[in-house]
Amino acid sequence: MSDDCIFCSIVAGDIPGRIVAETDGALAFLDANPLAPGHTLVVPTSHCQRLADLDAEESRAVFDLLSDLAPDVEAAVDADALTVGINDGEAAGQEVPHVHAHIIPRFEGDGGGPIHAVAGERPHLDDEELDDIAARIEG
Ligand code: 5GP
Ligand code: ZN
Repeated sequence: MSDDCIFCSIVAGDIPGRIVAETDGALAFLDANPLAPGHTLVVPTSHCQRLADLDAEESRAVFDLLSDLAPDVEAAVDADALTVGINDGEAAGQEVPHVHAHIIPRFEGDGGGPIHAVAGERPHLDDEELDDIAARIEG
């Protein structure tokens, strides 16, 4: 628990949240400024800032709840699809420094874009650069 973290305060019950599901290691609640009806956040109950900070158990708790809940969110608002994503780090748009996955209901013709729309201009990478990047990720 981090004292100055808004999501830790929701987990602790210190500030209200529209909680829709809870497991041992994860909590889901409605986003206070929804991008669509049903916009839901899934968080680990322990304070972890970045995805890489989650241990295996915390990670499993978040992704298990995420996959369990996704169809319920979609059905609850009669959506056509979902966009699911994590802003992992400030430069990616993460504003609350406690890991959270967004479940955003999507509707035919809602004017939104695919997840590909989140990045800026596409880079031009030749085969050698792609091979090099793959090798560095592989480690
Ligand atoms: P981020 O940009 O960090 O990925 O997303 C943070 C999300 O948390 C935003 O969509 C924002 O609306 C939501 N949010 C911020 N403060 C609160 C809060 O106090 N309660 C709830 N339920 N959602 C919040
Ligand atoms: Zn926190």
